[in-house]
Amino acid sequence: MPRSMKSRFRASGSALRVIHHLRAPHLMGRVHILCYHRIGADDESDSLTMPRWLFEQQMALLHRDYRPLSLGAAVACLAQQCPLPPRAVVVTFDDGYEDTFTRALPVLQRWEIPATVFVTTGYVDGLSSLAWRLKVPMLSWSMVRELAQAGLDIGSHTLTHPELAQLSFREAEEELVSSKHRLEDVVQQRVDLLAYPYGHVRSFDEETQRLVMEAGYRAAVTTVPGSNGSGTNRLALHRLTPSRRDVAALAMQLAELPLDRGLAAALTYGVRRKWAPVHVAAAA
Ligand SMILES: [Zn+2]
Repeated sequence: MPRSMKSRFRASGSALRVIHHLRAPHLMGRVHILCYHRIGADDESDSLTMPRWLFEQQMALLHRDYRPLSLGAAVACLAQQCPLPPRAVVVTFDDGYEDTFTRALPVLQRWEIPATVFVTTGYVDGLSSLAWRLKVPMLSWSMVRELAQAGLDIGSHTLTHPELAQLSFREAEEELVSSKHRLEDVVQQRVDLLAYPYGHVRSFDEETQRLVMEAGYRAAVTTVPGSNGSGTNRLALHRLTPSRRDVAALAMQLAELPLDRGLAAALTYGVRRKWAPVHVAAAA
């Protein structure tokens, strides 16, 4: 850990450790999966964009106080009912934005955080055409290959980012199978993890899950909030969207403590005072 960040962690450590001690006992043996989309410039923050300085602090926190696992390792543990380490956490990225490569990867490498990138294959080498966003550059195929070579897991986010449950059987199957095969061709590894586009309860149903299983996926993640244990349906795993408020808010989320209560506000205030934004030299 860089020295400047070490001292900031020490300064903020007591408040964050209080949060850990408040972590609910029912979270033992469970894993939280975090869902990121874009990593923005330091002054860039919106509902899909985490500013880089805060992402850096969040990854430093996971490195220090949690047990980051790859999604594949966590799923294997859930399937075999082997014990998960305390404070197990998984980092994932949806859609396949170029900044996953240019901004997230250097931070993940610095803090030794494994991660999974869910790529919408029809957007690769182009601009996002997601209707609610300005057009932003997406990963290139060479970046997808380099992410895999860097040790990140590559998963599918379908071909065109539809709500799978709204498609015909044949269309949904095409979305699941073609994206999987294209990614496997590029990364030369088995691709068996899926993130449902949108991920809310209406975007996938039992029929969708059957198609996902038949297409050869072993696990699929949603955006339905919560943690995951051995009893969780592995074709409908829960994820959390990390708070963009500050690093203490993420600790509160991982402890499943309410973000809006007075206790949270008091703890967060203590941390916020001691945590100036950490600006790290831009990788790109
Ligand atoms: Zn998406």
